[in-house]
Amino acid sequence: MKKTNIQMVDLMGQYSKIKNEIDQNIISSIESGRFVNGPIVQKFSENLSNYLNVKNVICCANGTDALQIAFMALDLKKGDEIICPSWTYIATAEAAAILGIKVVFCDVDLDTFNITADLIEPHINDNTKAIVPVHLYGQSCDMAPIIKLAEEYDLKIIEDNAQAIGCKYTFPSEEIKFTGTLGHIGTTSFYPSKNLGCYGDGGAIFTNDNNLANKLRMIVNHGEKIKYHHEIIGCNSRLDSIQAEILNIKLKYLDEYNTNRKIMANNYNLAFNKINQIKTPKVISDSIHVYHQYTLRILNGKRDELKSYLNDLEIPSMIYYPIPIHKQKPYRNNQTLKNTDILSDEVISLPIHTELENSNQDYIIESVIKFFK
Ligand SMILES: *Cc1c(COP(=O)(O)O)cnc(C)c1O
Repeated sequence: MKKTNIQMVDLMGQYSKIKNEIDQNIISSIESGRFVNGPIVQKFSENLSNYLNVKNVICCANGTDALQIAFMALDLKKGDEIICPSWTYIATAEAAAILGIKVVFCDVDLDTFNITADLIEPHINDNTKAIVPVHLYGQSCDMAPIIKLAEEYDLKIIEDNAQAIGCKYTFPSEEIKFTGTLGHIGTTSFYPSKNLGCYGDGGAIFTNDNNLANKLRMIVNHGEKIKYHHEIIGCNSRLDSIQAEILNIKLKYLDEYNTNRKIMANNYNLAFNKINQIKTPKVISDSIHVYHQYTLRILNGKRDELKSYLNDLEIPSMIYYPIPIHKQKPYRNNQTLKNTDILSDEVISLPIHTELENSNQDYIIESVIKFFK
């Protein structure tokens, strides 16, 4: 049982393997003198749009902005309602709330951690304008029924794909598409710890609708198409050239990184499936999980005990999320979200990243097994 400095995310280990390429490109980027929105931003957008097979990729400053800009492009405003999970990172709700949009929280499925068409439908009313599915922890929501529901009620779909870049969804027709390209607009984050992360902040917006794309491109740049001609209200949300250089390199390795995560997840699953008090993440058959997080449910009420036991062994773990959004001060309401509340007591995420060594994973597995003996 050997272990060496286990980390939740090992960005330095990953960097050391691509250091030459990264360093060279950062230097030449600086020397080009095009610091914001340089040609490399355009090139990376094209490469990502080819990778995702989506017509338009618009880069922006971060994943939270990406969501807000998506809502702005769809003209969502005060009095409108969106439906999103409470079981997500705060940004999903915050980006809508800041525009005065009413955020209606939907419960999630206990096994997949994601919202479903059945759970969404009761929240739809005359003010509902959009559904915001979050592909949490790297697994696609079951999108076919959600798309059907949206069509039935004439709602927009904005996918928060911050945790699932590279994930694919298979439709009942067997058509396969990348998450983030299934609705009207998809958004993502390039925060360093995401599956495709840069070395600072970054984000992007995807759409197959060229009209929407034009509007999104204007909004990220102060509502202008021609310099100093401002046609709509926008904001300043651009990607730095240096970040685009890094992303352009890391995009080449994204599939490899995601495959690595999957192998690690399978190792965990094999070991933990035998333990009654642990529920391993359920993969819906039509989804390729990219395991942004490897998240277990601990069913015997000892989640916090397990966490401090792991902490004593210097094994990092995280609770995503300790307090769901509908219980956070600015968003608090009287809603009861049964599954969401259960999950906040049960979940724990274990280290899963591209550089996790087998010996370290074995040590984590053996330690967890010992806890339940
Ligand atoms: C990280 C994340 C965001 C926000 O991205 P930032 O780049 O940090 O603004 C939004 N939604 C989800 C689900 C995320 O995990």
